[in-house]
Amino acid sequence: MKRVCVFLGSNPGTKPDYLKAAQDMGAELARRGITCVYGGSNVGLMGALADSALAAGGEVIGVIPTALQEKELAHTRLTEQHIVSSMHERKAMMAELSDAFIALPGGMGTLEELCEMLTWAQLGFHKKPCGLLDVDGYYSCLCAFLDNAVGQGFIQPLHRTMLLSAPTPGALLDQFGNYVAPVVNKWIERPQAL
Ligand code: AMP
Repeated sequence: MKRVCVFLGSNPGTKPDYLKAAQDMGAELARRGITCVYGGSNVGLMGALADSALAAGGEVIGVIPTALQEKELAHTRLTEQHIVSSMHERKAMMAELSDAFIALPGGMGTLEELCEMLTWAQLGFHKKPCGLLDVDGYYSCLCAFLDNAVGQGFIQPLHRTMLLSAPTPGALLDQFGNYVAPVVNKWIERPQAL
C-alpha cells in the first residue's frame, strides 16, 4: 500500500481528541512510508493531518479545486499540490492516486467523499479498502444507520463489511493489509427478466 487517501473535517471539531487523531494519522502514515493523499487544505483537521505527516518526514499530496485555492485555503508546503477545476475532478483524482480510503471525523464533505468511494466499491468499480477512524465513537451513528439499512434490505450484509472501522490509525491500517474485497451482486432481489 503506497498511498492512502484521508477525508476529514475542514473544521477542527470541539474535542481535542479529533485534532490528536488527525495528527496521529499523519504521523502513522509517515512512519509506515505511506504517502498521504488529501484535499490539500491548510485548515481544520485537514491542515493538522498534513502538518503532522510532513513533520514526521512523510510525503503529502494535496488535490484542491481552484475555487478553494483562491480563498487561500491551500496548504503551501506539500510534497505535491494538484490544482483542479472542480470538486468532481478532485474526487476522481484522489481516488485514482490512492490505494485505500479513510474517513476521520468530519462533516458533509467528509461523508460525501467516503460514501462515493463505498458506492463505487459495492458496484465493483474498485477493490480498495475503506475505513473509519472512529475517534471517541464519533461514527457510531453512521454505523447504526448502515446496520439499519442492512436490516431494511437496502444494503447487502457483505457490502456492509466493506466499511472497516478502528479506534487507532495503526489498527485501521493493519486491517487494510488483510482486506480482500467481497464479490457480491449489488441488487438484493433482481427482478426476473421477462
Ligand atoms: P467537511 O467534512 O464538510 O469539513 O469537508 C471536508 C472534506 O471536504 C475534505 O476531505 C475535503 O476534501 C473537502 N473540503 C471541505 N472544505 C474544504 C476546504 N476548505 N479546503 C479543502 N477541502 C475541503
